[in-house]
Amino acid sequence: MAARDNKCQRCHASICCNYFTQALDTPRSKADFELLLWQISHQHAEIYKDSDGWFLLINSTCLHLQQDGTCGIYTQRPQICRDYSNDYCEFDAPATDGFDLYFKNYASLLDYCRQRFKTWGR
Ligand code: SF4
Ligand code: SF4
Repeated sequence: MAARDNKCQRCHASICCNYFTQALDTPRSKADFELLLWQISHQHAEIYKDSDGWFLLINSTCLHLQQDGTCGIYTQRPQICRDYSNDYCEFDAPATDGFDLYFKNYASLLDYCRQRFKTWGR
């Protein structure tokens, strides 16, 4: 992740340093989805589901990312950054390829809620 080996050097957007995710409890009830609708109402927030479950995705650049694409705290970077391998990463294929569900905004999640709960809004 943002190491300066050849592959990351070619990844000019430093894709993996421009967002973070947070695991969500699997939403089941209307109340659960109401909470997600509130979360996705915020700027830069998206929600997806993949084989690992539901996640909040916040598109926000890491403050340690330098203009040249290097990590400003590379030797002390967080463990999750150390664990992230560039063997097959988002430079090779977009993460969205693995998404079962992907909500980019409030409207798309609201549509899903209306389809999932026939009594939504009543
Ligand atoms: S997305 Fe892959 S290639 Fe790009 S900076 Fe991250 S690990 Fe490197
Ligand atoms: S700490 Fe460094 S490697 Fe981790 S996301 Fe930020 S810039 Fe990228």
